Amino acid sequence: WWAGKKYKIIVVGLDNAGKTTILYNYVTKDQIETKPTIGSNVEEVSYKNLDFVIWDIGGQESLRKSWSTYYVQTDVVIVVIDSTDTTRLPLMKEQLHNMLQHEDLARSHVLVLANKQDLPGSLNPAEVSLQLGLQTLRGRKWQINGCCALKGEGLPEALEWIANNL
Ligand code: GDP
Repeated sequence: WWAGKKYKIIVVGLDNAGKTTILYNYVTKDQIETKPTIGSNVEEVSYKNLDFVIWDIGGQESLRKSWSTYYVQTDVVIVVIDSTDTTRLPLMKEQLHNMLQHEDLARSHVLVLANKQDLPGSLNPAEVSLQLGLQTLRGRKWQINGCCALKGEGLPEALEWIANNL
């Protein structure tokens, strides 16, 4: 981690996982520079020395091939999980493992955020980790943290992990 370098972070997750809420917790709306032309399902945001590319994965089969355009030189993949959305965890697992096979993501670190820990019925990070098969990720740094994006809980710790591991 050094001040002069631009870091690229991609933020992925199913719709409604909390990606937008998390992003705006790190970056207030007037601080960001968005590039709306990039596409309806993908959003790119620059803040200080960080470039964020955010998009919904799952569904939209036809768009999936074009996602890899955004993978190049990604430092960190943040995976946002709605920890109450247990029925779609198998879909998320499949999407995540497929995505991480791409050569452009071979050296990316993975930070999973088990969001919505405030809600009853949410799985804890250990349970989410098991459901996503994170223990099978080899040869890369990964981490799972619980968070509550609405209250901002767990988000500073997540950014700190990123800063300490870049
Ligand atoms: P995105 O589709 O992944 O960008 O998800 P959003 O950020 O738009 O969030 C989807 C919904 O979940 C919104 O109604 C948020 O207010 C809500 N939400 C996000 N994070 C949390 C959380 O930690 N707890 C609760 N209870 N709701 C959350």
